[in-house]
Amino acid sequence: MTSSSRRAAYLAVSLVWTACAGQPRLFEAVEPHMGTLVRIRLYAEGEEQAAPAMHAAFARIAEVDRELSDYLPDSEVNRLCRAPAGTPVAVSADLFRVLEASQDLAAESGGEFDVTLGPVIRLWRQARRDGLMPAADALKEARARTGYAKMRLDAGARTVTLAQAGMQLDLGAIGKGYAADAALAVLCERGITRALVAASGDLAFGDPPPGHGGWRIGIDTRVLELRNAAVSTSGAAQQHADIGGKRYSHIIDPASGLGLTAPITVSVIAPRGIESDSLSTAVSVLGAERGLKLIAKRPHTAALIAGGGRVIASPGWPGEKR
Ligand code: ADP
Ligand code: MG
Repeated sequence: MTSSSRRAAYLAVSLVWTACAGQPRLFEAVEPHMGTLVRIRLYAEGEEQAAPAMHAAFARIAEVDRELSDYLPDSEVNRLCRAPAGTPVAVSADLFRVLEASQDLAAESGGEFDVTLGPVIRLWRQARRDGLMPAADALKEARARTGYAKMRLDAGARTVTLAQAGMQLDLGAIGKGYAADAALAVLCERGITRALVAASGDLAFGDPPPGHGGWRIGIDTRVLELRNAAVSTSGAAQQHADIGGKRYSHIIDPASGLGLTAPITVSVIAPRGIESDSLSTAVSVLGAERGLKLIAKRPHTAALIAGGGRVIASPGWPGEKR
């Protein structure tokens, strides 16, 4: 994406919230980042405060993308994967933080959430384009290059060691949530606390709009009001492969190396996007029963799981009386 096309896509829509002088006004802008459209809404005193803050927040998202993207050949994570196996590589604070959260969740989910699934995920991306199942031998070879236990983190030195050649990290299930958090933090540093950042299915909320208890968002059949929290939704609705009459999700079951076939949509509320994003994917793989156990162990998180004609909410899900 060139800077001029990014500028062209920058829609500085200023919506007047109230005619009263001195009241904050609502500003909204949308830019393409991380393979999707990112929307920022914020309340500011005026254009002079809003425009540079929007610019800085989107620049931060672009920075996080250059660190975490699997699609950009020269992203930091792709460079890490090209380093010789067994060598500790110093990484940025952003990448380390995301990998640390990923490894914690990998351990907690018994490996169902696993960012080392890159080689398998790449095969499935190709399968989606071709409309053909990945070849069994290719899948076997790719799976042999996965496994979260083969990635070691050293928090003191802030280094990452990949134990095996040909490993590929894929942060598609955690990066957008983290980027939304990072953008919100940039706004906050500039004194803008009433804001939301939405990277397609991953939304991070700051303080609520003036006069409101939270930002309103529709999930399933309910309208929620959220503040200082994040919500993410994972599901096969948008990205999947239809092969031989079966629908394979872009979410992979590490136990089989196959895309999930059970129709399941999971929304997770958590304090931060890094957590809601990764948990929504983890719960999708774990399924309702094991997924709810994982959610119960994480403070201030809640999940809504829809699939097979049932909708199940965790005890903490807003609006649920339990
Ligand atoms: P979306 O990208 O639609 O927001 P998710 O947050 O659920 O959805 O992320 C799905 C992405 O996560 C996949 O496209 C892939 O890059 C990655 N992924 C797939 N399966 C797993 C898994 N079991 N553990 C970790 N990441 C996964
Ligand atoms: Mg996710």
